[in-house]
Amino acid sequence: MSVAVANEPAPSLRIHSPANGSFVGEVLIDTPESVRAAVERARRAQPAWGARSIAERCAVMLKVRQAILEHTDEIVENAAKENGKPRHEGLLHEVMTQLELISYFAAESERILAPEPIPLRLLKHRASYIHFQPRGVCAIISPWNFPNHMGFGGAAMALFAGNSVIVKPSEFTPLSAQILRRIYVEAGIPEGCIQVVNGYGDVGAALIDAGVDFVEFTGSVGTGKKVAQMCGERLIPCVLELGGKAPALVMDDADLSRSLNAVLWGGYANAGQVCASIERLVVHEKVYDRFVPALVEKVKALRVGDASASSDVDVGPLVNQRQLDIVSRLVDDAVARGARVACGGHRIEGPGLFYAPTVLLDCTPEMEILNKETFGPVVPVMKVGSEAEAILEANRSHLGLLAYVFTKSGARGRRIAEQIRAGTVMVNDVIATAAAAETPWGGVKQSGIGVAHSDLGLRHMCEARHVNYDATPWLSRELWWYPYEAKSLPVLRRMLHALYGRGLNRLFPKG
Ligand code: NAD
Repeated sequence: MSVAVANEPAPSLRIHSPANGSFVGEVLIDTPESVRAAVERARRAQPAWGARSIAERCAVMLKVRQAILEHTDEIVENAAKENGKPRHEGLLHEVMTQLELISYFAAESERILAPEPIPLRLLKHRASYIHFQPRGVCAIISPWNFPNHMGFGGAAMALFAGNSVIVKPSEFTPLSAQILRRIYVEAGIPEGCIQVVNGYGDVGAALIDAGVDFVEFTGSVGTGKKVAQMCGERLIPCVLELGGKAPALVMDDADLSRSLNAVLWGGYANAGQVCASIERLVVHEKVYDRFVPALVEKVKALRVGDASASSDVDVGPLVNQRQLDIVSRLVDDAVARGARVACGGHRIEGPGLFYAPTVLLDCTPEMEILNKETFGPVVPVMKVGSEAEAILEANRSHLGLLAYVFTKSGARGRRIAEQIRAGTVMVNDVIATAAAAETPWGGVKQSGIGVAHSDLGLRHMCEARHVNYDATPWLSRELWWYPYEAKSLPVLRRMLHALYGRGLNRLFPKG
């Protein structure tokens, strides 16, 4: 998509494996002009796609699903190289999540986007409905931690809704988007309806500035605020999916075996680089001495390595040097303030950006590691003496994306869940609703605005337009139309009292 300046090599993003430093691939960086050209192409292509029936669009998207399935290995291998993802995670987090999302919306889009009648309370002689129309051109700006699912989950939904879509992938993982765009086009999505623009943050900003009709941004809180500001100035509707600091509460009646396995996976999958990763572990003192040492043993047994060279890898590298530096700094700060390293706590020497899976004990609220998003294979632990204290700790964050509660009591789990300010609280499980496309995915507090996934998310990618029409077209004029005459005032007063008064004695007030 880039326009090269004559006789000069166009600037590009050169991607090296975070696990071994080897060169993986390259894409050209877009210019503001090429971004605008992409938006114009998208705008030209959208009306024909949007005019297809929902059923036709779903049929094409099912071909996309089949094509993704057939290219599973290519996607998984690229994720292992570009991102350092273990192959199991490539298969489940990057491929299966997309297949599931497409399956759900292929089955449900007609229902979700069907016109919705509104029963009218007052205007009984009229009728209303909402119909959902494509917004036009959607921009999906995505991060590096799930380069396939994040960018193209949003893209798939935008297409189901009848929009054309332009994906701006992270500058650290642009190769996934190249593969997926090719798959979408081969499967039958018109070229102009699915495009990718590449580059750093300025290219994301250029995309917002190029006249798009909707922005779905997934990334950090800091960038999210800039995106919100740009969208605000242009009055472009946006969904912001931002950072998380998920607490996991292990209560005194938890099933310890399940909790251990869940915390292990929830804390270290994708090397902790998940917005829903467990970033604060709150353990009840009655189970602390059994739970925490067992967790440390399991963390020590995690196999760290280069997923592109072996499938027997649990934890891959961090995506870039900056991320490695953030994790190191937060751990060092916690240790300087009194945290104890139960395992890990250091970078792994040698090629690749690896950090040893870490458990930090005796963590206290003033430590940065309990306040800033770590996005690394580190679980800081706190001990609490009661349910109320656990809830207090869970809510002690400016972020509120995911939270987890472990207890054998269903009623207690739901009671605690309802007291935690997070977009999603899971009881006795972690992260998994990211793959349940029918459930809303979104944060409260500074974790974001709006939701991705779910019926709500699909409808938000549409303009919800309201039509109101006459169901009984026999009145020549309404009661409240001109002319305003003194004699009609008592009638109107009686009408107000009849509708909103408390009893029959108020029906006929004096005057
Ligand atoms: P980031 O904010 O640095 O970048 C995200 C995307 O925004 C990239 O494509 C980047 O190029 C682009 N960008 C940067 N500046 C921009 C600007 N001014 N205007 C427009 N676009 C701009 O985030 P990241 O480091 O790639 O991703 C990690 C963050 O993403 C973490 O905070 C994580 O929690 C969050 N995340 C959230 C979710 C969620 O669902 N809530 C999911 C995954 C990741």
